Amino acid sequence: MTSYIKIKNHINGQWLDETNGQYEPLKNPSTGAVIGEVPLSSAETSRQATAAAAAAYPAWSATPLPKRMNYIFDMQQIMRDNLEMLAEAIAIDQAKHIAEARGEVGRVIEILQMACSIPAMIQGETVQGIANNINGRLIKAPLGVFCGVAPFNFPALVFGWFIPFAIGTGNTFVYKPSTESPLFMQKMMQLLVDIGLPDGVVNIVHGDRETVEAWYDDDNVAGVCLVGSTPTAKAIAEGCGRNGKKTMLLGGAKNFLVAMEDAPMDLMIENILMSGYGSAGQRCLAVSNIAVVSEIYDEFVERLLAASQNITVGDAMDPDVFMGPVISAKAKQRIENYIDIGQAEGATLALDGRNPNVADANQDGYFVGPTVFTEVTPCMQIAREEIFGPVLSVMKVGCIDGALRMIKNHEMGNGAVIFTQNSFYTEKFINEADVGMVGVNVGICAPHPYLPFGGIKGSLVGNNKVQGKDAIDFFTQSKVATVRIVDPKAGQAAPAATASTNVRSCVAS
Ligand code: NAD
Repeated sequence: MTSYIKIKNHINGQWLDETNGQYEPLKNPSTGAVIGEVPLSSAETSRQATAAAAAAYPAWSATPLPKRMNYIFDMQQIMRDNLEMLAEAIAIDQAKHIAEARGEVGRVIEILQMACSIPAMIQGETVQGIANNINGRLIKAPLGVFCGVAPFNFPALVFGWFIPFAIGTGNTFVYKPSTESPLFMQKMMQLLVDIGLPDGVVNIVHGDRETVEAWYDDDNVAGVCLVGSTPTAKAIAEGCGRNGKKTMLLGGAKNFLVAMEDAPMDLMIENILMSGYGSAGQRCLAVSNIAVVSEIYDEFVERLLAASQNITVGDAMDPDVFMGPVISAKAKQRIENYIDIGQAEGATLALDGRNPNVADANQDGYFVGPTVFTEVTPCMQIAREEIFGPVLSVMKVGCIDGALRMIKNHEMGNGAVIFTQNSFYTEKFINEADVGMVGVNVGICAPHPYLPFGGIKGSLVGNNKVQGKDAIDFFTQSKVATVRIVDPKAGQAAPAATASTNVRSCVAS
């Protein structure tokens, strides 16, 4: 039994109650019970946090790189040591199944491994001999204070995408978790205190829209990053754009899986269950639209329905169930509404997830069972809009070109995967699928932390993606220095080392 959870802000090394704003109840989605409260911080509190980050910036950015990296190494070690506690925090308020919550924390540990190579990735460039005794140099420098906004569904992963790269490159940070899943960051912040991270380098403010909007015209803020829905990404782009702030904004998704006639059927079904029903379908890379070639359509539907009917639903902390609840009563209602819409627009509801059998009959949580629509067409609302629940839409296509056309015509462009053993289909799909992340014979095409993560089209607002070298580019600015070497004895430019060059062409403009 978890004791009452009082979520607090963490500003300049202090755990603080919110005195200016309000509190919202924190619920356990597996039971519907109120388990704590989370602050809705005011604009004033939000700016107090950015002021603390700005005050910490000069000393932190001047901290030698090896010393900053020691904190990243320590962060990784303390996460390893506390993996179970951190995974439980995710399973309690976000109700991610405990096994998947462990996987999420494990992924952040891998991301930290990547962040440990910041010294190699942050190196600048030098061009010797632009003119006589003149060299050009490119430096990658931090910018100041960054702010980050997280969605409810990946409280640990998004911490990993933002904070190690932002502070590793010399910036300081203010982070706003989702009010629906704040517990991970409360635990993680204490671990950052435990490794001795200086006060103000990472600050946490809990809240919602008002907390974020306070940053748009805040002179202390250099940039804002978000992982969330596309409307939120657009709102932040607008607010930050007006004030010239940098943004990195990953938005919503609607991912396709393409099943070709030679698809390895057992492997594909197993991957669809994990991708479509894992995290109760609340993943930005969850499969949602399944395009199946006509040769295997009937067999596929039969196999998918049989496998989906066996999915067990129940408390996220129960290791014996496959799928936990969705995040809130509101989310459950939204998903059930889409089930009504799908029926109304003529799709066949082959498996209805409303009122599922829940493992513990006393459960009063927000459960939606596996749901499968067949005979879906790409124009239907259920195929176009993000449902963000365990609902699959199966469509029939004639060939790979038909599937690629559906993907191209879709507003979103996060991920798409194909199941095939044919190298022609594989290469064609990798080259032509109009999305940011593709996969072959994998259900979830999440790139490894060494590579960038992010979609295109409606799934990304702007150009910046998370992870890999893209993260370094976002959290640094490049500065170019042109340096003439003057001989201090002669008081003039040192003698030419090479044949005569037109100096004016380099420095006069
Ligand atoms: P959301 O957009 O409702 O909220 C995300 C965050 O933004 C929250 O912290 C919220 O408090 C804040 N917020 C909400 N409205 C705001 C506004 N108008 N101005 C400023 N901040 C605001 O998203 P969610 O429901 O928490 O998460 C699910 C969404 O996130 C889905 O659309 C999913 O696809 C997306 N997501 C995308 C990725 C990706 O990699 N592209 C990863 C995870 C989740």
